[in-house]
Amino acid sequence: ERAHIGVTGLAVMGRNLARNFARHGHTVAVHNRTSAKTRALVDEFGHEGTFLPADTAEEFVTLLEPPRRLVIMVKAGAPTDAVIDEFAALLEPGDMIVDGGNAHFADTRRREAALRERGIHFVGTGISGGEEGALLGPSIMPGGSPESYAALGPILEDIAAKVDGVPCCTHIGPDGAGHFVKMVHNGIEYADMQLIAEAYDLLGRAAGLRPAEIAEVFKGWNSGRLESYLIEITAEVLAHTDADTGRPFVDVVQDRAEQKGTGRWTVQTALDLGVPVSGIAEAVFARSLSGHTDIRAAGRGLPGPTPGTLDGEAAARFADDVEQALYASKIVAYAQGIHQIEAGSTEYDWAIDPGKVAEIWRGGCIIRARFLNRIREAYDSPRRPDSLLSAEYFRDALAGAQDAWRRVVATSAELGIPAPGFAAALAYYDGLRSPRLPAALIQAQRDFFGAHTYRRVDRDGSFHTEWSGDRTEHAV
Ligand code: NDP
Repeated sequence: ERAHIGVTGLAVMGRNLARNFARHGHTVAVHNRTSAKTRALVDEFGHEGTFLPADTAEEFVTLLEPPRRLVIMVKAGAPTDAVIDEFAALLEPGDMIVDGGNAHFADTRRREAALRERGIHFVGTGISGGEEGALLGPSIMPGGSPESYAALGPILEDIAAKVDGVPCCTHIGPDGAGHFVKMVHNGIEYADMQLIAEAYDLLGRAAGLRPAEIAEVFKGWNSGRLESYLIEITAEVLAHTDADTGRPFVDVVQDRAEQKGTGRWTVQTALDLGVPVSGIAEAVFARSLSGHTDIRAAGRGLPGPTPGTLDGEAAARFADDVEQALYASKIVAYAQGIHQIEAGSTEYDWAIDPGKVAEIWRGGCIIRARFLNRIREAYDSPRRPDSLLSAEYFRDALAGAQDAWRRVVATSAELGIPAPGFAAALAYYDGLRSPRLPAALIQAQRDFFGAHTYRRVDRDGSFHTEWSGDRTEHAV
């Protein structure tokens, strides 16, 4: 008997993916550098399906039915290159290597090109949902050639999460497209988490609610338009009491957020593409600010406004205002992420359909949320919006939310409570709305000190003014 698919790298993700394949009736070859993990998997979960364990890479490859489908789930970076090299030497033209790790899309493009020369399909695949998603149904974002998707798609769609019967897996586009979209997914995840954290902070510090009370507010939100995995788990975290101290759990956790780097990649790539993902950037920077204990200690003595909270009536209205600010800011974060996906798609010729991306994010992944249906609809409509914000549903939602959104940002500034995510999202919104931006003045300044030229509102062409001379203008 040979395996339909093989998984090498049996840490939490690989092990659970292998089990997911087996539970769906696929015979799975399994392999890990340290073979104790391979045996442990078969001992513990062998009853869930058919696993074919291999101790060596050579044995693993012979266990796969051709054309071989081999999933690599090892540490991203150099370990992934080492494992690819090891297996590429053993594979034949037509075989497929799926890298399900969190690779940078530029690495995926490089690996895909190198393996294509040898006739091997390299399928960089974003997988979201963490450990549990891998087992019960992740959201899967495969890149690579259309031929490879024809052979791999059905088996990946089998194990993916399903929403309304639709699998959360689609061919994103060639070479690095899948890992690019997974990267932006993670960037949006950073933004979403930051916005939720700001909502919590404002409800606590401005409205004086305790974590257990905030948990109730979040639970309420989760039965409305904000319904999402992240809101749901936030309510659970906030309701949790520390067993040791009896204090709210969130209060005993150190306030320094860590990061593994995909948010940073999103922002770095956005800078290269010239896409303003300010909400994602603020989220990454907020995490890094939280980690700088040295400057935070120095900053603690800086003057702020007179401490205070909202009074009774304002406090009562505030939770609703924050819901609106959160919804509006979240829409902006997704709009920025989708803009980045469209820019990447243009730059690398990927022809990504944002509506399909929204569709496969509806289940399995960390940012799964009810409102992704609305995003899919916006891009499914015959008049594809230039920005998500200008799609009818979202324009109306923002129109309804903006007064509350402005009050929340104003309140945060007045009370001295940082809300960089809400504020950046609102500034982006107002930036898009503004018929004229002060960029005109910046162009004039650039021309003044660097003769960088400017364009005029009333005539075609580029112009320069002799700022240090007689200030005459000439076309250049
Ligand atoms: P880790 O990232 O911790 O990687 C551990 C696995 O990599 C082990 O199987 C290990 O083998 C193997 N490995 C490391 N170095 C080498 C090497 N040089 N040669 C061969 N094998 C090597 O595992 P995870 O399961 O957490 O993640 C796997 C991948 O999935 C990563 O790229 C991660 O970024 C990505 N991912 C993780 C998610 C998560 O929630 N954890 C979510 C989505 C993606 P050994 O046992 O022999 O040490």
